[in-house]
Parts: sequence; structure tokens; C-alpha cells
Amino acid sequence: MRILAATGNRHKLDEFRSLLAPHGFVVLGAADVGGLPPVVEDADTFEGNAAKKAVEIALATGLPCFSDDSGLEVTALNGSPGVYSARYAGPKATDDDNVKLLLRRMHGIKDRRARFVCVIACADAKGRLIGTARGECAGQISLVQHGMMGFGYDPVFIPEGESKTFAELGETVKNRLSHRHAALQESLRLDLWQQLRDATP
Ligand code: IMP
Repeated sequence: MRILAATGNRHKLDEFRSLLAPHGFVVLGAADVGGLPPVVEDADTFEGNAAKKAVEIALATGLPCFSDDSGLEVTALNGSPGVYSARYAGPKATDDDNVKLLLRRMHGIKDRRARFVCVIACADAKGRLIGTARGECAGQISLVQHGMMGFGYDPVFIPEGESKTFAELGETVKNRLSHRHAALQESLRLDLWQQLRDATP
């Protein structure tokens, strides 16, 4: 079954393609549908933003659609940057700007606990929300950046049980440990994909 991923992020698209292929889904990306309409991510929860993206893009394209909203929550920063992870250092911030700001704010802080959160939302071709599923990946913020792989905060995030950052561990390890993988497992447990199939003529 063909399903549209409501993300313009190539790294996330690759990660979802490899995670969903074994379940019989052909995941289309923005490039396959001539671009995605912009969606204002103004909800204050990951669930709210993910649902908004899936529903609005399904309505605009007429395709069954799923989206994810994700981000990093740092314990010592009261859960920041959270839903603002992509624009932590400002509306036009690059990954590098965001990482540098995070390291500055964490300077001298001993409690380095953090977690990545991902919420997946599915909507049918008529824009009806099928449901949402949440996954988390606990870890620590490193003192400095390490590694070149991945994106976003990967160079400063050391997942629990590892001594290297996601940017050093690479795609295979990350796909197994990531919050996206956890959210996907949860979506399978909740049977969201079967419900989406049932809702699709
Ligand atoms: P979204 O595209 O609105 O979900 O924003 C997600 C933002 O959170 C990204 O721009 C990254 O800054 C951060 N983020 C989410 N997932 C990851 C990840 O797997 N690695 C590193 N950073 C991530």
C-alpha cells in the first residue's frame, strides 16, 4: 500500500522507509507528490503537531498520510527544547546553531539526562485521524559534539547503554534504538496501520 510521509526531512524519510518496508508499505515522500503544502506547527504537544500535519496533508493530497513530530527534551532544561527543537536557536536556525546553543545552555550542568520523543500520527485519504503513537529514547547530552552521521542533535545525544553519540553510531544502530523506531513499534502494537488499511478503499 502506498502511503505519504508528511515530512520534508530526507533523513526521517529514509529512516521510515527502512522501518515500514517490511510491513508492506511503499512510503512516498514530498518529491513524489510535487512537494507538500506548508503546515503551521503551532500545537504545544508532539501529539497535536503530528495530528495536524497528517490530517492537513491527507486533505490536501487525497492520500493516506502519516506524519511524525519529534524533538529533544532535556531534564535540566525543564523539557526544552521540546516541540521547539527544530527552531531552538531561532526561526532560521541550522542544526549546528541549535546544537551549539544547547551545549552553551548545558555548560557546567552535571545532570545531562535527556530523551528524544517521537509521535506518529496516521490519517486516512479523507483526512480523518486514525490515531497517534508515541516512542521515546532515553540518553545523555555529551559535553562536546562527536560524529558526522545523522542530523539534528545526533552529535550530542548518547543513547542509554551506549558510550557514543547517535552521530557516531550510525544508521543501523540508530534505527534499532531510536524514538522513531519506538513510536513505530507502538503504532504496530496499537494496530494503527491495519486501521489505516481498513479505512482505505
Ligand atoms: P520536527 O521535524 O518538527 O519533528 O522537528 C524535529 C527536530 O527535533 C529536528 O529538527 C531535530 O532538531 C530534532 N530531532 C528529532 N529527531 C531527531 C533525531 O533522530 N536526531 C536528532 N535530532 C532530532
